[in-house]
Amino acid sequence: MKFGGTSVQDTAAFTRVVKIVESQKAISPVVVTSAMSKVTDALLDAFETAKKGDSKTALQLLKPHFARHLQVSQNLTAEKQQKSFQAELNLAKDELSDLLLRVKRRSLPLAMLKDAIVSYGEQLSSRLLADVCRAKKLNTRQIDARRLIVTDDEYGAATPVWEETENLIKLELEPLIESSEIPVLGGFIAASRSGETTTLGRGGSDYSAALVAAALRARELQIWTDVTGVLTCDPRICSEARTINTLSYEEASELAYFGAKVLHPKTIQPAVDYKIPVRVGNTFEPEKTGTMVLAESEVLPGKIKSIAHKTGITILRISSARMLGSYGFMSALFQIFERYRTVIDVISTSEVSVSMTLDNTSSLEPIVGELKRLGNVEIEPENAVVCVVGEGLRGTSGVASKIFSTISDINISLISHGASSVNMTFVVKEDKAGEVIKRLHGTFFRQI
Ligand code: ADP
Ligand code: ASP
Ligand code: MG
Repeated sequence: MKFGGTSVQDTAAFTRVVKIVESQKAISPVVVTSAMSKVTDALLDAFETAKKGDSKTALQLLKPHFARHLQVSQNLTAEKQQKSFQAELNLAKDELSDLLLRVKRRSLPLAMLKDAIVSYGEQLSSRLLADVCRAKKLNTRQIDARRLIVTDDEYGAATPVWEETENLIKLELEPLIESSEIPVLGGFIAASRSGETTTLGRGGSDYSAALVAAALRARELQIWTDVTGVLTCDPRICSEARTINTLSYEEASELAYFGAKVLHPKTIQPAVDYKIPVRVGNTFEPEKTGTMVLAESEVLPGKIKSIAHKTGITILRISSARMLGSYGFMSALFQIFERYRTVIDVISTSEVSVSMTLDNTSSLEPIVGELKRLGNVEIEPENAVVCVVGEGLRGTSGVASKIFSTISDINISLISHGASSVNMTFVVKEDKAGEVIKRLHGTFFRQI
């Protein structure tokens, strides 16, 4: 059971979570929690402030968040637990103060310090949740996720080393589960082989929970959040978004990858590997089933299930007469991206040109420098990828024409269809994305 930031944002939220865990205690849950909402952002702000040389202000930025934790502890646990939590909090403050000073003085690599700092969100929320559950007579025990999830040392977006992680999770958690204890661990945080704290990327608690579920061959992975399942589109764009009853793993992966924030993009793979059903539910409406993600789901011929989108996308176009009838060009091109560890999301080629989209542009300059050796390069920032998903797209005619006639007056700069048979992906200008989604949602999901 994974609870997101808004599900542990305050006393009322903690109370809801305890009820949900309590209702499933007979079926041996393992609880994974995010940091309390806004805490990860605050820790990152503190890091940036210290980086600019002001480590004192950096620590001040965190004070209100320490107080939020303390408030929950005071509202929901007994005096003894409050004291011990306060001691834990004081320790965290001292450690953070030291880490922020190190950031200012650059006394350790910044990427390493950043992960160490940001990990306190989950370290504290998991301790607090374990305390609050115990106060409500649940047999919980806080476990440090950094002892279970082993990763490489790519700080900020580390990759787990599966066999080691699997063994550690089993070794540590199975005996607890057998003795009816409920482990509570922080998501998102892990450690490299050398023991340094790492993180799995923003929103990575979903992924932590999926790793734990896979290692334990759990009966179900539950992602508890602030919306009732995966919706037909981002509810912040279109308030008519509705819950989707079932999704296939493939559909859910595409949606997560192309921006449906409700699931971290890497969450589905561990579930696929061991065929674990994933349920996405709402802590504010726990009685509703939400969305089930399964190996196979309803195929609705000609129907789409959801529309995801991702903004902040840059298009790169490389045109070169050298491409014509030659081999090795694509290989040379991809090697450049590999060297700079940069992911290409969507790609489309013609005989003399390649267009592709990038989400991460941190290495754009050197990449473009090298691409120029292959041909003429154009860069187009501020785009959005829109991804229409549904098993029903598999071999049904007419869907593409319906999509494109709905937005016929909006310029589309790239289209990809067929690589995965469950999606149709295209790129529009960022400032048109909201309009595109609203219109498509109107066309495909209008209530009759
Ligand atoms: P948590 O903190 O629980 O992990 P997130 O903020 O990461 O929650 O993800 C849930 C949010 O994802 C929702 O509140 C919603 O605004 C956003 N979202 C974007 N696209 C979708 C979608 N297709 N279905 C559901 N939620 C979506
Ligand atoms: N707390 C982390 C974040 O805000 C991880 C998560 O919530 O899943 O990105
Ligand atoms: Mg999330």
